[in-house]
Amino acid sequence: MLAAQLTGIRAIRVADVPDPDPPGKGEVMIQVHAVGICGSDVHHYVEGGIGSRKVVYPFIPGHEAAGMVLAVGADVEGLQVGNRVMIEPAMHCGRCDQCQKGRYHTCRQIAFLSSAGELQGCMCEKIVIPAANALKVSDSISPEKLALAEPLSVAIHSVRNSIDIEKGVPIAVLGAGPIGLCTLAVLRQAGADQVYVTDPIAARRDMADRLGACWTGRPSALVDQVPLGMAAIFECSGKPDALDQAVDLIGPGGKLVITGIPEGDRVSMDISKLRRKEISIFHVRRQNQCAEAALNMIASGAAGLEALITHRFSLDQTSEAFDLVACYGDGVIKAMVEVSG
Ligand SMILES: [Zn+2]
Ligand SMILES: [Zn+2]
Repeated sequence: MLAAQLTGIRAIRVADVPDPDPPGKGEVMIQVHAVGICGSDVHHYVEGGIGSRKVVYPFIPGHEAAGMVLAVGADVEGLQVGNRVMIEPAMHCGRCDQCQKGRYHTCRQIAFLSSAGELQGCMCEKIVIPAANALKVSDSISPEKLALAEPLSVAIHSVRNSIDIEKGVPIAVLGAGPIGLCTLAVLRQAGADQVYVTDPIAARRDMADRLGACWTGRPSALVDQVPLGMAAIFECSGKPDALDQAVDLIGPGGKLVITGIPEGDRVSMDISKLRRKEISIFHVRRQNQCAEAALNMIASGAAGLEALITHRFSLDQTSEAFDLVACYGDGVIKAMVEVSG
């Protein structure tokens, strides 16, 4: 089968690699149709890893994926050949203390597709995964829309577990990339009507306007919009400066939700400001049990999230796709690699 592989910093090849072994007990083989390029994939591409976790080459990127069941192993219930599925990229053990508590996303033995030091990704024609990680979906939703469900589920997790939404409460989202825009859409759907969004890129601010932000502007323009301070800020840019800005703009007792992933392992914040306002921090780790909600939100079409898919590439063009996303070129928001089918 064909697979896109990272072979070094900013180096990708599309190579013939062996097919996966047939699915074993409790597993299914998926024909991958579409894979979205995630910010974390770009960290792997540009920096060779995230923080201290380094990629071992060759490495298949991609974890925001949808496809079709090609083969079913023994003891699999509820899935048949031909079913359309969204791939849930996190595999948890089901036995550790975290899994026992329902915190599957912080499982002690977590293995995540396309995460350095964990598993290879799914930017390839076929992949074998546990049947529990193949979520059956309606045939009527396109694979690329389904591939949005993974980043959307991260946004849902970040909102559900951070604040109670009430009308008139000011909230800011810093960074209007795919995760920031999904966060905006989730906040709006949950009833937030005062969502301020910043991004240096005009096309991303335009998209935030479309998705219902009450105000958009460059990061430097978000000063004193709200005299009493923001009730919560969702930091979705991964830029260290944005954390400083958030600490300044959050009101006393407010919440800082960190979803963006910075380049290095360490960032600094003004601890005195954090303490004086008693800001609490929720640092988002991917998502837990939010994929179904994301699929429902996409199926309803109400939030207009398909507009986030701005660019489409074939598997052969994966390298071009990564370059575009890495340089924020051509107004790109979410780039999809159409692998097959
Ligand atoms: Zn992702
Ligand atoms: Zn576990």
